[in-house]
This record gives sequence, structure tokens and C-alpha cells, in this order.
Amino acid sequence: MIDNGFSTKETDKRMAKLGVCGDDVSAILVTHEHGDHLGGVARYARRYNIPVWASHGTAAMIKKMDTVQCFNSHKAFDLGAFSVEPVLVPHDAREPTQFVFRSNNLKLGVMTDTGSITQHIVDVLSDCDALLLECNYDREMLLNGAYPESLKRRVLGDWGHLDNLQAIALLQQLDTDKLQHLVLAHVSEKNNSHDLVLDSVSMAIQRDRAWLQVIDQDDGLAWCELN
Ligand SMILES: [Zn+2]
Ligand SMILES: [Zn+2]
Repeated sequence: MIDNGFSTKETDKRMAKLGVCGDDVSAILVTHEHGDHLGGVARYARRYNIPVWASHGTAAMIKKMDTVQCFNSHKAFDLGAFSVEPVLVPHDAREPTQFVFRSNNLKLGVMTDTGSITQHIVDVLSDCDALLLECNYDREMLLNGAYPESLKRRVLGDWGHLDNLQAIALLQQLDTDKLQHLVLAHVSEKNNSHDLVLDSVSMAIQRDRAWLQVIDQDDGLAWCELN
């Protein structure tokens, strides 16, 4: 499991929908300390006795747990059947990381909560078999929307979030020949729309709109198979 911003009850409900339960989770990896990622981690970990992993900086921000396993953000490590490569990202948290997972010669990239694209991000996300990528906001909608000015500046900034065009610019720099699934995630309900994300990404990378997936905040995402 990567992050958990939900109550235990809500998490159980979402897990059941996918045919799994808390006892099936062997580890929770925490990307950073913001509430939508960390809020439900301690309760869920305690309820099902799951080890929690985070960078040293993120671990220092996890106050509600006695033990957090720390990984070196610059070094891949093994977790069960996976090799986990932490990817440091520019985001306004203490030591935020996203992840690349490898198993059976397959590579899955997970990249949300990133304010700008670095060469390092381009390098590690190339050649993925599946990629979950943030498309947080549409610039016009954010600028003309109801967020207070300070929050707009935060989201827009280099340590905020990726907008649709930044996500597209990143995709255009990646080798995506092997990509079996592209899942667009962390989509703002106020400053973006699923249609806008699907239209702009499919046009930019010349893939069928129906091939793309957007994660709905209420419904989540069904299992995707990689082979
Ligand atoms: Zn977030
Ligand atoms: Zn965040």
C-alpha cells in the first residue's frame, strides 16, 4: 500500500471492493507527511499490524507511530517480491519521495505531489510498463477558481503540484513504448475535470482516450494487470 489518507472503515470498504483486506497488506510506504497521504496510515497500520516505511525526513514527521522503517531516498531496496526505488521530488514536504517498483522484469512508476519536473524524474520514469501520474490542475481553472491566493501560489509553485501541461511535458520526454497502462491521478475536484485530463493527454501523446484511465476520488481504480 502506498499512502493512506482515509479512515480505517473507508479503507476497508475500498479494499473489499478490490477483493482484498488489511491482512493482505505486507507494508505501507509513505511518500510524504501531507494529510491526504499520511492521515490514515498509523490507524490502519496498527489495526492490521503492518510495517510502515518512509524516508528519514518523512519518518521524522510521523508523530503517531513508535516505529517506522526508514529507507535511504537515494537507494533502491527490496520489499517482498519488489525492488523499490525511491524518487526524490520537489514538493513542499520534509523529504518527499515517489516510487518506481520492479518485479519480474516489469516496471511500475508512481508519481504524484511534484511541483516541477527534474531530469532525475525523467530518467527514472522512462521505460515503465505502467505509470500512475499526477494531473492535479488546469492552470486556467486554478487561476480563476475559488482557492485563496496563498493556496494558488502554493499549488502553482515549483514545490506544489503538476498541472495537466506539466504532466504532458513529462510524458513527452519519456520513452513510453512499453507502457501498458497510464493512470492519471491526484486530479483536483475543484481545479480540473476528468474530461479535460483525458482530452488533453490523449491528444498530446496520441493514444486513444479509452486507453487512458483517470482515478476518481470516490470510486478509486480497479486492478490493472501487467504482463
Ligand atoms: Zn497529495
Ligand atoms: Zn503533498
